[in-house]
Amino acid sequence: MSDSEEPQQKTVIGIAFGNSNSSIAFTSPDGKAEVIANEEGDRQIPSVLSYVGDEEYHGAQAKSHLIRNPKNTVAYFRDFIGKSFADIDPTYAHSSAHPIQHETGVAFSVEEKAGAEPSTLTVSEITTRHIRRLKESAADFLGKTIDGCVITVPTDFSEAQRKLLSEASKASGLEVLQIIQEPVASLLAYTAREETSHPADKTVLVLDIGGTRTDAAVIASRGGLFTLLATQHDYELGGRHFDDALVDHFSKEFIKKHKVDPRENERSLAKLKLECEATKKTLSLSNSAQISIESLAGGFDFHSTVNRLRFDLLSKKLADQIVGLVESVVKKAGMDLTDINEVILAGGTSHTPKIASRIQQLFPSTTAVQAPSTNPNALNPSELSARGAAIQASLIAEFEAEDIEQSTHPAVTVTPHLAKAIGVVIHSPEGDEGKAEDKVYVFLDAETAVPARRTATFVGTQVGGDVLIRIVEAKKESVDVTPPKEVKEKVEGADEDDEDDDDDDEEEEEEKVIKRVTEVEKVIAEALLKDVKKGQKIEVMLNVAGDLTLTVTARVVGGKGGIRGTVPG
Ligand code: ATP
Repeated sequence: MSDSEEPQQKTVIGIAFGNSNSSIAFTSPDGKAEVIANEEGDRQIPSVLSYVGDEEYHGAQAKSHLIRNPKNTVAYFRDFIGKSFADIDPTYAHSSAHPIQHETGVAFSVEEKAGAEPSTLTVSEITTRHIRRLKESAADFLGKTIDGCVITVPTDFSEAQRKLLSEASKASGLEVLQIIQEPVASLLAYTAREETSHPADKTVLVLDIGGTRTDAAVIASRGGLFTLLATQHDYELGGRHFDDALVDHFSKEFIKKHKVDPRENERSLAKLKLECEATKKTLSLSNSAQISIESLAGGFDFHSTVNRLRFDLLSKKLADQIVGLVESVVKKAGMDLTDINEVILAGGTSHTPKIASRIQQLFPSTTAVQAPSTNPNALNPSELSARGAAIQASLIAEFEAEDIEQSTHPAVTVTPHLAKAIGVVIHSPEGDEGKAEDKVYVFLDAETAVPARRTATFVGTQVGGDVLIRIVEAKKESVDVTPPKEVKEKVEGADEDDEDDDDDDEEEEEEKVIKRVTEVEKVIAEALLKDVKKGQKIEVMLNVAGDLTLTVTARVVGGKGGIRGTVPG
């Protein structure tokens, strides 16, 4: 084939569209996803548009206009897409253009041109303008026209919201190939790094702590397919609340010195908020940070410092709330903390070291917590959604529209899966200690996507005779086997006076020993293999079809025939 006949490769990008920030990413020819900086060098591009004179500002430039020109600066609008005015929470838009009621839902009244009447910009129109700017930044960076994109949204985005987002993007000249869920994108960003085409089966919790909200999701990753098991959201918990903790702290200091409360003046408050956000980010990297604001309020400048310990104390309640959210999503998934193999911390606020350490303390040490402060190889939490979206975009770029609909979409969301683990119990008349015992072998973990098939061989009997095989539904349970305190004290000669010491309590929590045991819940089928010779191997194969019908085959290895049975799903 000559060069001219080669099919033209499409240029596609991934877009993470948040209430606070958006980012764009592309996949390089070697398959690595990279986040693109806009013309100002920002990879986290504030989802903000501001109108000053005849100019439209976007991103960080627009965000800085929240101080001088808040009425014509539109921010925090993503969650308003497809919502009626009565259903939105306008709190976050308090210090920017106020949302107003409109026949299509929500809009903003903005002076777009100097001296002209304010125009009414619907949320869809603002979204179109925002995506257009993101598309232009990507095109500038890559030096190519962008043919399509994959956009990430939270798991609670409705079909109607997705449709409107797609239309808004199309109106900007950017075709949406697919809209995927944020936690799935974060998980994709990590699994794409694994150098195997068969990623290990695991249960992952994605905790996304953004600017205005926190979302948690439990996802089963089985045989490379993802199944969303449970989600939980907190719409009043995000980076903004951490900023507010600092705003209150510094305001008190300012009042003490100057008898003026900077929170009472809109402009002073906007200045303080922006600086507190920057101070908070510094504290993620170093132990102390300075804040310096000229003419903060009443004509007084403000200079101060804060250390990480103080910040952690000021934001302790917020960290407690995050821990609570994690516990509740795990419970909602019908699991306990020890069932989670990996926690992925996503969203800008996940840079906060204290949050990562609180999450690490919550889980057993065997659970990997992916965050910059707990794992030096962790990916940047602010970039996960965009990277995942870019990876997905490059995977489906050449697909036909209906193939995207039919194959990729259900694969990451609604794949049928096993509600319970399925195992095999082999009755052994002479167990490890010479006594009769039942041994449970889990073949298929709960949440395994179907169809699935597993085969295993066992030694049937050490003495010869009939072997009873039972196929069961099983449940893995955690049992606390931590030695009682008195026993431990005796062994270690611990000092009782230490009991009230907080640090010691924390250490004890870390020493907790949890063991996993498999409990049989229900027998689904039984098979009897007759006259099995001493030491002969038995092969059992379980096959679960897409409709959950289970087929069991058992045979003596090397023997003739076998048993086969089917149990409807
Ligand atoms: P949402 O939709 O919840 O508003 P988002 O997805 O738009 O969030 P993100 O970029 O994930 O936004 O998160 C933004 C938040 O992360 C902001 O509050 C920002 O201050 C915070 N953040 C960013 N970097 C850091 C850092 N290094 N340390 C602490 N917080 C940070």
